[in-house]
Order: sequence, then structure tokens, then C-alpha cells
Amino acid sequence: MKSAANTFRVADRERLKPRHTLAWMLLAAVVTGGTHAQTFYPAPVSETPESWFESGQAELERALQRTQNTHQAKNIILFVGDGMGISTVTAARIFAGQLQGSAGEENSLSFERFPAVALSKTYNTNQQTSDSAGTATAMMAGIKTRAGVIGVNQIADRANCQSSLGTEVPSLMQQAAERGLATGFVTTTRITHATPAATYAHTPERDWENNSALPEEAVQHGCKDIAQQLIEFSYGNGINVALGGGIEQFMPVGKNDPVTGREGLRTDERDLTLEWTDRYDNSAFIWNKEQLAAVDVNNTRHLLGLFSRSQMDYAYDRSDANNSQPDLPSMTETAIKLLQAQSGDNGFFLMVEAGRIDHAHHAGNAFRALYDTQELSDAVETAMALTSEQDTLIIVTADHSHSLTIGGYSTRGNPILGAAVTNDDHGHANDEHSLALDNMPYTTLGYRDGPGFAEDVGGDVRYTVPAAPGRHDLSNVDPTHPDFHQEALVPLQSEGHAGEDVGIYARGPWSHLFHSTHEQHYIYHVMRHAYGW
Ligand SMILES: [Mg+2]
Ligand SMILES: [Zn+2]
Repeated sequence: MKSAANTFRVADRERLKPRHTLAWMLLAAVVTGGTHAQTFYPAPVSETPESWFESGQAELERALQRTQNTHQAKNIILFVGDGMGISTVTAARIFAGQLQGSAGEENSLSFERFPAVALSKTYNTNQQTSDSAGTATAMMAGIKTRAGVIGVNQIADRANCQSSLGTEVPSLMQQAAERGLATGFVTTTRITHATPAATYAHTPERDWENNSALPEEAVQHGCKDIAQQLIEFSYGNGINVALGGGIEQFMPVGKNDPVTGREGLRTDERDLTLEWTDRYDNSAFIWNKEQLAAVDVNNTRHLLGLFSRSQMDYAYDRSDANNSQPDLPSMTETAIKLLQAQSGDNGFFLMVEAGRIDHAHHAGNAFRALYDTQELSDAVETAMALTSEQDTLIIVTADHSHSLTIGGYSTRGNPILGAAVTNDDHGHANDEHSLALDNMPYTTLGYRDGPGFAEDVGGDVRYTVPAAPGRHDLSNVDPTHPDFHQEALVPLQSEGHAGEDVGIYARGPWSHLFHSTHEQHYIYHVMRHAYGW
């Protein structure tokens, strides 16, 4: 147990190492600065007793003027924030508002202004708290299934190829391609990771991303790895856009990838990036943001972009000017413009995933989870600007939640990542951090479980093996630092998914069909109905 925990720390330290000079300066300030001064973000001066009443009236007026858009959807864009539970959305909205200098609670992310909002029940057929493979299958194929499987029904046992034969269920993207729509997906994870894989692959094991991961049983019974299934996707005109990370899954051992110069993982000598351009006319393979910006969408019918060896970097780390990876709004923009140019009048289907909200949470690092959520909000804004509400259904949802909680009775405008400062008996902010019964400060955000147990609260400097389990004294720690790990109650190597419902936010044709607490696979059925199939 102890050595496993240490292994995680070493790996995680690499992953979370800040690349920004600014971040290092902040880190230095944390080390030398001692107790930091208390700062609050101010509430908008426009907030008055009258303005609250008026804004409530205005919101009612907007609700009364709602009409139902029953047009057939020409296009559908499904945004998935992996692990983006309700608490993540709330915290990200405050985080984004505070980055603009305001208190933040009054802020809204782009998709929170959508007219239709509902809840999604995310359990798998065999799991109370779900994983991303079974839930992505629910959304993409219209049935709940087991955790860990992709594009196959619950009859299949996980990691058992033979049991999965004949259990394949057609994905919405596959059906869209068959009907002549342009199709594609964008993600910040490996494009063979569970969520994107559910748009095109069928496998009883989400980890079978390249051929070397397949066990003998799977090879014997003819199961194919996920990367191969992407390249060989044979429905309609094929996949028009696939953008994300994970070039290691597509290149063979002994051949160096253009992103990192390291060899691939495949042991079948296949270079699937070459097969992509061989397979399709007017196709392109790209691997950095300059190439993405230069894509001629009118003359590129099939675009494959692999911008990292494994997962793409977190949005915060990609915001470094020296980072060669594109941001999610840029990938979304290119994907939509290409699909619009290549679909003619047939319309398109696009799935866009902010896939690393989940990974930052697993690392116990709320900062990066919120930063990635804000990037998803920006990508949705990009999609809204490029499409019409009349003919394009946009859905934003999550596959499952995470154990992030918001508490501590913090005063208005308290830094969302900061230590809690409560109000005094007259409702005004105290001067000092509030102290728990152990006389130590505590943060507004926390996790139920994960690596943020004991002294493991993040950052290279404080990355020490805990002397004793228990809470960490945050008196001289800046919990708003990008590398801070929120405290967790239960010590786990990786913070875990949470089982409560997640939001569904929608606008455009038939978005009003999201109106209640829905089973997650209902999302697929609304999409099909909106297309008029
Ligand atoms: Mg995912
Ligand atoms: Zn996860």
C-alpha cells in the first residue's frame, strides 16, 4: 500500500509539474511568503435590492416567451465534459467569474444559459457509480451497458472477446455516416480513449487501444484494437474529423512519431497515420496547432490530428505559448467548419469531449479540472457562434460526476480555490481564515477520496510522504496554487467518480425533450428523434 502510494506521487509529480514561469514564481511566493493576505472578489456594483427583483422578473419573462423548436435538426453537436458533475460546473462558473475579477457566484458558463436543462442518471448496468466507457455507450448507442465496455451490450463480459461477439450496437455516428451526414469527433484525451471510442468502436475492453494490448483470447476470436477500428471505420463516407491525442496508439514499435520523436506502441508494424491518408482522398494528417490553423477545410474531406503522444495536456498547461498543442475551441472550430464544408446539405454529427476534467479530478487537482471546464465552456461558445439555433441541436452533458464538494460557508467572492473565510455574526466577512476543530484552516473545495489525504496536498515543494495521516496545516499554504491537491477524507491513489446525477444542457431543435430526470441513454433517443430518423 505504501509503495503504491509513493509510485503515484512520483508519476503525478511529473504530470503536474508547472511549465509556466509565473507558476514557479507563485510557488516561490508560497514557500517564502508565510500566511497570505486575505483577498475577496467584489460582487458587481449593479447588485441592489431592486436589481435582484428585476432580474427575477426578467428571467420569468424569458421563461414565458419560450417556444418549442420542432424543426428537424440538420446538425447535432454533443459536448461531453468527462467527469463534469454539478459541483464541477458550479465551481468552474465561480472560477471563471473570478478570473474576470468578479465575485463569480453570479457568473454563468456558456451552456448554463441554454433553455433546456435536465438531469441524467449515470449508473451502468453492473455498477452504481459508473465509468466512462459504459456511459459513453449509453449516450452513443441508446442502451445502458456494463462499465468498461464500448459499443457492446450488457450480454458481453468485460475483457472477454468471445462473449462480446454479436453484442455490438450501432453508434449514432455510424448511423449518421450511413445516412450521408458528415461525421467527426474532437477530444483532449487519446482519440482511442473510452468516450471518443464509443462513437466508432465495439470492444468488450476499453483498454484494448492498440494491438499490443489485446490478449491471446481476443486475437483468437477476432477482436480488433480500438485504433484499428477507427482507421477501418467503413460506414458511409467514413469519419471526416478525428482530433485529439494518442499518437502512440497509431504508430509501430521502431518508428518515431513526429510529436515526440519516440517510437509507437503497435507490434503489428502498421502505421495507421499513413493508412489514414492512403485510405481517403483529400485527406490530411496533422500533429501541431500551426498545422491545425492552416487546414483548408474546403479541400480536406478527412482530417486526422494527433497532437500528443498520450493524453493531450491540461488546458492550463496548453495555455503556455510554447506548447504545440491546440486548444479545445480551436479544434472545435476547425471541426465544425470542415463538417459544414464537407456535408453539403446533409448536415453533420460532431462529438466534442473535454476529456481531462476527469483526469485532473482523479489527481485531486481541482484547479486544472476547473480550468478544463472553463475551456469546454469556451468551446461551446465557439459552436454557438458557428451554428444556428434553428437547425443545430447542441447538447452539453457529462458521463458521470466526481467527488468534488463545495462547502465551508465561505463568504461571497471568497476565492473558490481558497481557504474558507466565513462571515461574522453580522454577516460580514471575517478577517481571518476560519479554523476547524483542529485549529487548522480548511478549503471551500474538497474531495471525498483521493490523493489529497494527509499531507499530500500537492505541489513539488510539499510533495512529501505524509509523516502521519490526518489533516494538513494549511496556515502557510496557498491552496489556490495550480498544483494544490484539495484535501480528501479517504486515502485512495486516485480520486474517484461520484454516482449522483449530472446535468444535461441543450439548445436547438427538440431540446425541450430534456425536461426531467432522465436515464442517460435517453440522450441518444432524443438525438435520433431530432434528426427525424
Ligand atoms: Mg472521456
Ligand atoms: Zn475517470
